[in-house]
Amino acid sequence: MAVANPDITPNPDTLHRRGLMFVLSSPSGAGKTTVAHKLLREDGAIAMSVSVTTRAMRPGEVDGRDYIFTDRTVFEAMVENGEFLEWAEVFGNFYGTPKAQIKAGLKAGQDFLFDIDWQGTQQLYQRMEVDVVRVFLLPPSIAELERRLSSRGTDSVDTIAGRMARARSEISHWDGYDYVVVNDDIDACFEKVRGILQSERMRRARQTGLVDFVRDLMR
Ligand code: 5GP
Repeated sequence: MAVANPDITPNPDTLHRRGLMFVLSSPSGAGKTTVAHKLLREDGAIAMSVSVTTRAMRPGEVDGRDYIFTDRTVFEAMVENGEFLEWAEVFGNFYGTPKAQIKAGLKAGQDFLFDIDWQGTQQLYQRMEVDVVRVFLLPPSIAELERRLSSRGTDSVDTIAGRMARARSEISHWDGYDYVVVNDDIDACFEKVRGILQSERMRRARQTGLVDFVRDLMR
């Protein structure tokens, strides 16, 4: 951003910067959904990345808001045409991140929040590297995770055991992330995640308006 009028004091927070891709992952029961919703509510500068999926719509979901729902033929054609930044098969359904809107958004300074699995996170990082910030939430203990995953009270022992097995396998991917936050208190965890986002926004390489701003300071 060139500062044409020397009487106007430029606000460094409004300097142009490139958006970032904020990936939040965790085993279920570790607080990802709560933190993600709070972030979207309280931070006006980040938007959810809406994925394309072939899975059936669940009650309460809205096409275009929760996912872009499509069928397998269309999804495969999108893969063929290179329309995804990443895609993966999860539990027999296909999920993918559409490329065009994310790339345009990043250029315009829009940040995106991603709820994708570890395979998608890896692919995204391989393709977009410095644009990607990967955050993983961990539960404070296995006992607490079990308590959270069985808190509905109506689930069978087998169902809970299945969820625990899946959670353990998700936890094993912790080392593919840049930041790891142990969630023993949801508010404290949220503040830590928000702090990561705010710091990452200040990275010099993302602040594309800095060159003109500093040139002006030194004039
Ligand atoms: P669900 O069907 O319950 O909404 O999501 C199932 C899984 O798919 C979750 O682990 C979610 O993180 C993952 N997922 C959702 N969208 C995408 C995507 O665009 N790419 C990848 N790789 N995984 C996704």
